[in-house]
Amino acid sequence: MNIHFEIQDDGIAHVIFDRKDSAANIFDEQTGRELSEHIDAIAANPTIKGVVFLSAKDTIFIAGADINAFVEQQGSEEELIQMVAHGQEMFNRLAALKVPTVAAIHGACMGGGLEMALACDWRIASDDRSTKIGLPETSLGILPGWGGCARLPRLIGLPKALTMILQGKRLAPRQALKYGVIDRMVPREHFERWARTKIAKGKPERKSHWLTNNVVSARLIASRVRPTLVKKTHNHYPAVFRALDITTNGVTSPIESTLRQEREALVELIQTDVSRNLVRVFFMQERAKHLKLKDISIIKGSDADVSGLAPVQDVTVIGAGTMGAGIAQWASARGRNVVLKDLGLEQLARGMQAIGKVYHSAAKRHIFTRTEARQGLDRIHPTNLDVPLRSMDMVIEAATEDMEIKKKIFAGLEAQAGDDTILATNTSALSITELAESTSRPDRVIGIHFFNPVHRMQLVEIVVGEHTSPEVAARTLRFVQKLGKMPVVTRDSPGFAVNRILMPYLAEAGHLFAGGASTRDIDASMLDFGMPMGPLRLIDEVGIDVADHVAAFFGRAFGDRMPAPDSLPLMVKAGLLGRKSKRGFYIYGGKGEPEVNGELSKYVESASTAELSREQLQERMALVMLNEAARCIEEEVVSAPDDVDFAMIMGTGFAPFRGGPLRYTDALGAAHVVDRLDQLASTDGDRFAACELLRTMARDGKTYYTT
Ligand code: NAD
Repeated sequence: MNIHFEIQDDGIAHVIFDRKDSAANIFDEQTGRELSEHIDAIAANPTIKGVVFLSAKDTIFIAGADINAFVEQQGSEEELIQMVAHGQEMFNRLAALKVPTVAAIHGACMGGGLEMALACDWRIASDDRSTKIGLPETSLGILPGWGGCARLPRLIGLPKALTMILQGKRLAPRQALKYGVIDRMVPREHFERWARTKIAKGKPERKSHWLTNNVVSARLIASRVRPTLVKKTHNHYPAVFRALDITTNGVTSPIESTLRQEREALVELIQTDVSRNLVRVFFMQERAKHLKLKDISIIKGSDADVSGLAPVQDVTVIGAGTMGAGIAQWASARGRNVVLKDLGLEQLARGMQAIGKVYHSAAKRHIFTRTEARQGLDRIHPTNLDVPLRSMDMVIEAATEDMEIKKKIFAGLEAQAGDDTILATNTSALSITELAESTSRPDRVIGIHFFNPVHRMQLVEIVVGEHTSPEVAARTLRFVQKLGKMPVVTRDSPGFAVNRILMPYLAEAGHLFAGGASTRDIDASMLDFGMPMGPLRLIDEVGIDVADHVAAFFGRAFGDRMPAPDSLPLMVKAGLLGRKSKRGFYIYGGKGEPEVNGELSKYVESASTAELSREQLQERMALVMLNEAARCIEEEVVSAPDDVDFAMIMGTGFAPFRGGPLRYTDALGAAHVVDRLDQLASTDGDRFAACELLRTMARDGKTYYTT
């Protein structure tokens, strides 16, 4: 049984979602069947005066539809249509109940969960941090198909409904109240009382939203939204356009007609490659959240019993710069006490100021209350003195990227740390093994590579050195998951997985620029590919000095196949550092988008790439990523193809609808990739030389994935 049903003495029925053997409620087949029966029973029972829908789970109301069930039905259009139609019809029956209904939402209320709540008369939600309300379907390449497009704009007006549906927004309870999605925010303990208050009011009179929900306004709103969607998606994500049309038309058509359109569009969209790839990203995220040591084949001893290991609670962070401050903020916000150490008070003050800003903006967006933000800040203890580390579970070093500095820091840490203290480094590319070997206990050294900015980037690369023990890896993995980040585990190799694949791509952009291709064309071609930012713009953001440093490092590590572009050090010498100096490939400072810097002709070395079309530029930059991604599999930098694809999508925003570089290689065919690389290698040299794995795959007609 997934739903408990009880009728209280006062005639109020409770429908309590409590999916068997699971921490989450979802609309799987059984839950749907049970709910459908309860709705019929309620309709047929004249003693019932009102209904409250509740969840017995700690952090989930209803997380949405069972995505697996949809995936299994792909290819069988009839089945899909029936599944969607069944849900719509069930919620129609719910909406048509004669007695008042209340959804009492505590925990995640997503997709189908919210669509059910929208079919209720009233919605109240707990003020808990786990309560999140939204329709995330478009981020899976589909759209709300159980009445979301039809009912949400009627409830909250077209503009806000479009914001929620097109951006897949997850609203905190306070935001949901502001949007008008819920009627009241109350502590969970008061659900009973408030549900009865609402039921006593009967069926609500809803606002008509006539100002926006009319033919003229709806058309105007759609015509304003469409160009922003084109700009944002480069037309790669059809779901948002379908959702825009259906939701906008829906405000002036009968609900039945909107439901039919939802049904047809959902069934069509779910069978596209775009949706398949986005659903895969969803499953990869789930995999990362639940990843266990035994799943990671690249770790020696991954079958070790790690069940009784002490969890990592409190941490010391060394370095209060960009990354150290970011890590301290994130860990403190998740209840950890953090000692934050830097060389001087000035650096610490800067770090604490940056942390304060993140908390302040999170409080403004209702992610935390002001009190929670204050408490989070209070958990950080800044210091420039030596601190006792004996009782610390983990030290995360995020000091300057320099092996000698890091070795010195680790030598000092060793002297003070307890036997079980994990020594972790946030280095972007330096060798974990080399750093570990400078200590007497290399088994407890590990890489824990957060991305910038820490509070926005969900990915963390956990880097195991040659000596890292399975226990240290397992504790670190659990810690990262407990922090709410998504881990990918890599072996120690230059740049690990993400920077290793990203760097040749950025370098290629530099080579194309030096060959005469324009900044505008280089960046536009990759935006069109589906990257969130053009590569030269990204170099500006990272800092041209940092990019040059990293490119030189890769040049040394990989030789001729990863030559560093000559233009970067020259630009650094001229003070062109990118955004931080207001000048780089672009000029910053004005209002709006930065302008292309038109005074860089002296850094152009030839006209070899000046005539290339945007498609040709795009192909070159994409191919170097596919080649390097293949090498990560060939050299077993990661355990599985999913790791590479996941890391690139989460770490760099690699066009999610393409499913990652390896999935994209499969779509193109290894033979085609090798053929194109060979042609480019013959004209442009070794940086395009296809790796052995790709050649073997091309020869044998192999793919990375079988499904
Ligand atoms: P940063 O220059 O902003 O900060 C480094 C801080 O370390 C400075 O405040 C410095 O005073 C401090 N420091 C130096 N030596 C120290 C010592 N002996 N003890 C205590 N503090 C010391 O650097 P960052 O950008 O925060 O990078 C830190 C680390 O994170 C580097 O290894 C870097 O490669 C890595 N990283 C950076 C990014 C990024 O985008 N900035 C992303 C991922 C990883």
